[in-house]
Amino acid sequence: MTDFQHDTQALALDAADPLRHLRDEFLIPQHHDVEMAYFVGNSLGLQPRGARGCIEEVLGKWATQAVEGHFTAPAQWMTYHELVREPLARLVGAAPSEVVAMNTLTVNLHLMMVSFYRPTAERPAILIEAGAFPSDRHAVESQIRFHGFDPAHDLIEVEPDEPGGTISMEAIQRAIETHGSRLALVLWPGVQYRTGQAFDLGEVARLARAQGANCGFDLAHAAGNIDLALHDSGADFAVWCHYKYLNSGPGAVAGCFVHERHADTDRPRFAGWWGHEARSRFAMGPQFVPTPGAEGWQLSNPPVLALAPLRASLDLFDRAGMPALREKSRSLTGYLESLIRDSLGDVLQVLTPAEPARRGCQLSLRVAGGRDAGRALFDYLASRGVLGDWREPDVIRISPAPLYNTHADVLRFARTVAEWRDVR
Ligand SMILES: *Cc1c(COP(=O)(O)O)cnc(C)c1O
Repeated sequence: MTDFQHDTQALALDAADPLRHLRDEFLIPQHHDVEMAYFVGNSLGLQPRGARGCIEEVLGKWATQAVEGHFTAPAQWMTYHELVREPLARLVGAAPSEVVAMNTLTVNLHLMMVSFYRPTAERPAILIEAGAFPSDRHAVESQIRFHGFDPAHDLIEVEPDEPGGTISMEAIQRAIETHGSRLALVLWPGVQYRTGQAFDLGEVARLARAQGANCGFDLAHAAGNIDLALHDSGADFAVWCHYKYLNSGPGAVAGCFVHERHADTDRPRFAGWWGHEARSRFAMGPQFVPTPGAEGWQLSNPPVLALAPLRASLDLFDRAGMPALREKSRSLTGYLESLIRDSLGDVLQVLTPAEPARRGCQLSLRVAGGRDAGRALFDYLASRGVLGDWREPDVIRISPAPLYNTHADVLRFARTVAEWRDVR
């Protein structure tokens, strides 16, 4: 294809995109007065234009009403966390009582392990993927030690068995079945952060539970990226953050799912007053009575300023709907993959699985020629306003986000890589 034909194709794909107007709902950062091609929604999603209004509403109420703001509609602070409950449930395929926005991801992971990692001498082990995100590994390892067990025996890591560093379902099944009787918990990612591989979560949960183990998911790279059906998956819990694909700002309040079957448990937990049943919370009694469902794991009163941008973001997900977003995402990422295959195979190797069901929007790209070449390409892209992110030693991650990226952005990436190759 000529340059002109490529342009025509990208523009036609964008013109036919039913979600194209959603890009206008975001602030797109500029590079020398030109909009960036921003592919780092897997790290920090862009700011929805509506976020500022949601924050200013809280600031305004604080300025004019102070403590009364807890009680005055709309969006009274007392029940502010409830405002995101239903859209969040839709996003992850759960019942509203199964989700809550609270804390941050790693904190929620610990709180969930307090309740769902209950090791015994016979069943002390946690199974995770090798190469898990460091925070998850630190959390899991410290929990194992906290209970007096030894990570050297009781932290089981499933090694990648596929060429790009991805993991087959057979390898997961083999590991779960081999260690089954010793497993207290299987903790699995929805989308692996380094390779971009997406997993069949229902199958992972089924395998774990068949062995009598609990099952939890880390959905940091999955929430807002792939279709999720958490309730139907049967998992015990899930945690995720809201600053990546959920576009709610740096350090945003995180999400947490607890399956309905645990709604009324007297399962051990670390408790705080906001997990106490709402009805009698302000009786200020000494006895903890958990509120049913995921909200029963809350500790503190909701961080209202930090929750505000999440409202603006979830509003956009509701407007788009996950099925339409996924369809656009498949188109964007498929287009990226086809441009690489057709003309950049000598520079970039795609590590992410080729099957759309086994990936989200991210492609992890190994740069030929090792670390120095990789860094040089990465820096060249950044100097041209094309932003991906870098993973040592030689991988660039590119994540076209269907809420705000375009096929023209993707073409610009491919063209800039070709330019770098040709001038080098
Ligand atoms: C982004 C990410 C984190 C970050 O944890 P925070 O507690 O939000 O800082 C943890 N785990 C995974 C898998 C991630 O992708």
